[in-house]
Amino acid sequence: MSLQVIHEKDQLAALEGMTFVPTMGALHDGHLSLVRAGLALGDQVLMSIYVNPTQFAPDEDFEAYPRPIDEDLAKAEAAGAQAVFIPDTSLMYPAGEEIACPPLPSVATEPGLEDAHRPHFFTGVCTVVARLLDLVRPHRMIMGEKDYQQLLVLQAMVDADRQRWPNIKVIGSPTIREPDGLAMSSRNAYLDEVNRDRALGLSLAMQAAAKEPDVASAEARMQSVLEEHQLRVDYAVVRDSRTLMPVEGSVAGHRALIAAHLDTVRLIDNRSF
Ligand code: AMP
Repeated sequence: MSLQVIHEKDQLAALEGMTFVPTMGALHDGHLSLVRAGLALGDQVLMSIYVNPTQFAPDEDFEAYPRPIDEDLAKAEAAGAQAVFIPDTSLMYPAGEEIACPPLPSVATEPGLEDAHRPHFFTGVCTVVARLLDLVRPHRMIMGEKDYQQLLVLQAMVDADRQRWPNIKVIGSPTIREPDGLAMSSRNAYLDEVNRDRALGLSLAMQAAAKEPDVASAEARMQSVLEEHQLRVDYAVVRDSRTLMPVEGSVAGHRALIAAHLDTVRLIDNRSF
């Protein structure tokens, strides 16, 4: 069965009710694991590839973001996707039409994590995903735990408006890592050899934190491992795994979340304890 490549809104009508995997392309095994998760649930899978301008700040990497579209289509087909939707910006944000952001849930505004460090980000993500859900009309959307706050935000966004999205389930799927522990990311393509080694600091910091007796010592340990790897830390915290708000005591059952910079590359990662 060959892959359908879709550019127009009208072509989507025949594909309603599938499992949907939204991406920004530069596909790697993390993205493809989401396709496989959909197939394992017995569904046909529709991916989207769209580098969404509204979730990048002016000083971020929108222009430089990798766009290897032919390779992406080959990977999507090999993974077993039924269709790939590649909209133009004129379809996503039609001139003269207001594409509004749904109300942001508290997990998008209160934790002080991505919300604090990329203040434009969840407005852009919620706007584009709401638009994609309205166009694609899937019955399920699968997202990576790699972007853990984003997963919780989109689950909350959909749950908060069951009139608009009565039947959509938003499901999280585990983070896929390189053999040495680095979480797969399209932005890893920016890392040269030296930075590739330093990037391991994120997963090593969380491994070290897992051995600490409590949240405060786990956070201190993460900070020091990240600094040893010469990473500039945005946050390195242990939080409630549902609300992402601060917790105390043992780390068990909670979630570690890190964002750190390596020169001009910003990496994020997380894990449960
Ligand atoms: P992106 O193309 O970075 O916007 O990611 C598209 C989807 O793939 C999101 O749901 C991400 O959380 C997910 N994703 C990205 N990297 C990974 C990974 N290493 N493991 C699992 N899912 C991932």
